[in-house]
Amino acid sequence: MKVCWQRGIGYMDICLCFFFFFIYLFFLQVLLVFAKEDSQSNGFCWACEKANFRCSMARTPESALECFLEKHHDLVIIDHRHSRHFDAEALCRPDREEASVMPLINAGFNRRYVENANMMACYNELLQLEHGEVRAQFKLRAGNAIFTALEQSQEAIEITSEDQVIQYVNPAYEAIMGYQQGELIGKEIIEVPKSEKNKPDLLETINSCIRKGKEWQGIYYAKKKNGDSIQQNVKITPVIGQGGHPILLPSPKCVNVQCYFYSPDIQSSKHKDRRKGSLDVRSTTSRGSDGSSQRRHSSMARIHSMTIEAPITKDGLRRLSGNEYIFSTKHPHHIPSHLTTPLSLNDIPPRIAQTMENEDSWDFDIFNLEAATMKRPLTYLGLKIFSRFGVCEFLNCPEATLRSWLQVIEANYHSSNSYHNSTHAADVLHATAYFLCKERVKQSLDPIDEVAALIAATVHDVDHPGRTNSFLCNAGSELAILYNDTAVLESHHAALAFQITTRDDKCNIFKNIERNEYRTLRQAIIDMVLATEMTKHFEHVNKFVNSINKPLAESVKSVLTSPENRILVKRMLIKCADISNPCRPQELCIEWAGRISEEYFAQTDEEKRQGLPVVMPVFDRNTCSIPKSQISFIDYFITDMFDAWDAFADLPNLMQHLDNNFKYWKGLDERKLHSLRPPPE
Ligand code: AMP
Ligand code: ZN
Repeated sequence: MKVCWQRGIGYMDICLCFFFFFIYLFFLQVLLVFAKEDSQSNGFCWACEKANFRCSMARTPESALECFLEKHHDLVIIDHRHSRHFDAEALCRPDREEASVMPLINAGFNRRYVENANMMACYNELLQLEHGEVRAQFKLRAGNAIFTALEQSQEAIEITSEDQVIQYVNPAYEAIMGYQQGELIGKEIIEVPKSEKNKPDLLETINSCIRKGKEWQGIYYAKKKNGDSIQQNVKITPVIGQGGHPILLPSPKCVNVQCYFYSPDIQSSKHKDRRKGSLDVRSTTSRGSDGSSQRRHSSMARIHSMTIEAPITKDGLRRLSGNEYIFSTKHPHHIPSHLTTPLSLNDIPPRIAQTMENEDSWDFDIFNLEAATMKRPLTYLGLKIFSRFGVCEFLNCPEATLRSWLQVIEANYHSSNSYHNSTHAADVLHATAYFLCKERVKQSLDPIDEVAALIAATVHDVDHPGRTNSFLCNAGSELAILYNDTAVLESHHAALAFQITTRDDKCNIFKNIERNEYRTLRQAIIDMVLATEMTKHFEHVNKFVNSINKPLAESVKSVLTSPENRILVKRMLIKCADISNPCRPQELCIEWAGRISEEYFAQTDEEKRQGLPVVMPVFDRNTCSIPKSQISFIDYFITDMFDAWDAFADLPNLMQHLDNNFKYWKGLDERKLHSLRPPPE
């Protein structure tokens, strides 16, 4: 919208004989751009004070832009009287990249104000703007926000007109009920098949309640498109539209909002209910969907002989010393100022949003997101996943705080590491979120566990130097000394994550939770991050099998609810998420194998150079067979762990990928190839 007007006299007259201003509208905070203080700028300042608006003053286009970027003012008033001070028009020119507020203003609105320093004239001008365009903007934005909330909500939401014609269903509704929007909109709800399980008079009861303008809440059996009945906790709220008109429809007088709550709202009751639900206990024995998993060797017999190591950074990109590690401990990175921020989930650029569309699928391509975000996938994916799980609501923290937190955590991952960078963290977060949606996992965890798991996944390798614990110990690094050669990196990741988070209120996502809740959350996060240490791998897997898989196979249903077992589930969850790359689709699996191998090779290179013990001699770039290394990794660590996790969480797609990948590596090995891929034909 672009409006231009002047009072009383013609535009040219104003230009030549009078002072005038451009006024740009957006929200409600006022920025005055005046090169010098005078009666006119004072008039606006006082008017702002009288109107109770917050007012900032900038003297130059550059400071105006800086101030605007910080506060995102609702009104910008620019002095256009003295062109010798600055070029007011340039400041407003949309095509200028530097020192122009225009490209940043959503509602491209301008008007001119003839000079009048009288405070009441300024005040009237501000009020007119507030009551007109500013409020209209607020409403538009509020509507936008509500629709975004509806679209993002995990609850299925259906909006009908008063005469029960469906006006809108959100994506969660489509996903849960199996219908596409287009199949439902415009249909009366009685045309949509209903389950026979409902009491015959239920609809009449609901209707009479709604007719009285009252809300109805209760259990309702709906029918999915595929004919399955689904039990729902339903809340139906009649909403009277403005001035007797409907909110969404042109004709009827009121709309009904039907909210079907299945997921994370009413969290505690949901979890209690789920725990009561029947448990489908599966066998704990190894199995593959087509029996081919037998080709993977059961690892338990050989597990203890394996040297357990972690991967390293790309040598040459970053020369590391013990001092550097400790330097980053003491001085964790702040958010780099050159990184432009997504303003909110809404403002994520479409290209990035598009690459995240299928983030709830196991086959989601994290490397696409890595490329689209210029190696900042964690912030974007974090925003989306945390919002999907209602983490901000749980923590009672503004989205802006979450955003700053994600940015500062991501900035503390080393992008120069070929494996342990923020893409790995984003990948682990992705796998964690995927596992949290599995029915059995949902049955066993509370909302606080879900939040802890997402946070733990995000931070679990923060500030990873690209060298393994053994390397750090052998090199006598300050981190190894600080943590007594014990779980050096994992201790560092957990400790640093809390330092970064609590150091500054701007990114402290825990700021608004109660002390006890914070303690519980903190304990759970630390426990999960420490569980990623590979020397404890078999201990965690064995405990999980003995305390959870076996009792479940014997139908001991209470196993899911004990606090000790919840801890075991959470540890297993983050461990499986952390090393799930052999269960990813083949192309992704190969890419991860390439990255990890490069880090291992780099460590071996550096160990040789520095005369340190070579802790993983197999990973010598001159002799290593990558297929063999992957076969061993799968045999030793992955097979048994994922068999147990699959028996618990039911992950046939992951097991299928694992089998395919295992066969792929075997195929290369049988051809005596050492490389990631076969040579081109
Ligand atoms: P983390 O350092 O938390 O990522 O721990 C996971 C461990 O598993 C690290 O030691 C990694 O080196 C190792 N790892 C993960 N994926 C692979 C893979 N495809 N091949 C070999 N080792 C792996
Ligand atoms: Zn990791």
